[in-house]
Amino acid sequence: MSSVWLRALGWLLCIAAGVYLPVRIFYDAWWALIAAGGALVLLLGWHLHQLGRLIRWLRGPLDAPLPVSRGVWDIAFAGLHRRVRMRSGEQRILSDTLESFTQAAQALPDGIVAFNRHRQIIWINARAEGHFQLSAETDSGQALTNLIRHPDFVTYLDAGRYEEALVFHSDRVDGQTLLLQVIPYGNEQNLLLSRDISQIERLETMRRDFIANVSHELKTPLTVVAGFAEMLADDDAAYAEGEAKHYLGLIYEQSTRMQRLIEDLLTLSALETGGAGQAEERVELEPLLRSILAEVQALSGGRHEITLSIDTPACVSGSAAELRSAFGNLASNAVRYTPAGGRIGLSWRAGRGDGRGEFAVSDSGIGIASQHLPRLTERFYRVDRSRSRETGGTGLGLAIVKHVLTRHQAVLDVHSEPGKGSTFIARFPPCRVLSD
Ligand code: ADP
Repeated sequence: MSSVWLRALGWLLCIAAGVYLPVRIFYDAWWALIAAGGALVLLLGWHLHQLGRLIRWLRGPLDAPLPVSRGVWDIAFAGLHRRVRMRSGEQRILSDTLESFTQAAQALPDGIVAFNRHRQIIWINARAEGHFQLSAETDSGQALTNLIRHPDFVTYLDAGRYEEALVFHSDRVDGQTLLLQVIPYGNEQNLLLSRDISQIERLETMRRDFIANVSHELKTPLTVVAGFAEMLADDDAAYAEGEAKHYLGLIYEQSTRMQRLIEDLLTLSALETGGAGQAEERVELEPLLRSILAEVQALSGGRHEITLSIDTPACVSGSAAELRSAFGNLASNAVRYTPAGGRIGLSWRAGRGDGRGEFAVSDSGIGIASQHLPRLTERFYRVDRSRSRETGGTGLGLAIVKHVLTRHQAVLDVHSEPGKGSTFIARFPPCRVLSD
């Protein structure tokens, strides 16, 4: 038996004896027993009273002070008091930690929406409330896709490719562009992160517009300069002679180079704004590749052996003008970076049964060292600047190729070895390759 019970039993016996014995001295045993029983009933009443106090305290408000008592009840109340103090200390630490996490999440410059696997909102920070025009108070527990119904957003959630971010043009806040990304965590829960990139987008648009405008403005004066320089430098014309003719020839050469550069800049900015040849058409590859073959044969002037092979005649869904520009750039690069006598092969392969298709240009030219390969599609990145200039390059050809391929969900692979040659492969996904 525990010491508490022993103490309680001891008390009962003491009280019973303490009443029974003195009464027995003056009265007979019955009266003494009745007096002891009465004392025990009083004691029971006192215990019931203490129990009542405990129940009232348990039912009362959480911050009500604990009752004070004596005897076993004092032990019980003191034990409860200690536990309550410990529990409220732990709770304070927990709620302080939670509070500081919440404050940190509120202070983030990005929006955060936590949602569960049923897409119900669990928590929203202040920044996300502004981004999506939501309210943490009223919208918690609601389905996210009932509140943000934009088709781009719903498609992004349904696709589940959360390693990619979504550029989201808000339909609730005018001119707002958000970068959204979902990050799964814990037990099928997710965080939706949102970052306002409207300012970056505006600057990017200004940069694109500036390049497009400058290029347009330069186009007309350059056409005039190149036209007159050509006319004056013409061998048959007698406008200038000797050195002057030579200088006019240089002016013509450089101004046509600038014209090519401006054409490429305009093509790039049209691709970036998504304006050029947006129409999806069924592009028949065989005639397209035959005309590119004819163009590069003309460019080569018989200095190379150029072949074209097509394993399965097919069509690509996309823009004919853009594909012509991309394939033409790859083919003309092969001619420009392959010394006379070299071999160049253009090929289309779609017959592997997986629905994919690839256009490849291989050459036996100068090749490219491996450290340059990751940077080739950057604007104005050239392995050998003077060689590119000599061959009439603008430094924008592969940047155009990359943009066009991206717009067709295709990717560019490059294999090359210095001194042996290069192969550039444009790989198209099944959704773009249509059988002839
Ligand atoms: P450029 O107008 O200078 O040719 P591109 O963007 O078309 O610009 O190509 C970028 C660089 O990649 C070129 O300057 C050249 O160094 C390299 N390059 C492209 N194609 C080939 C190739 N077929 N063989 C060797 N180097 C190449």
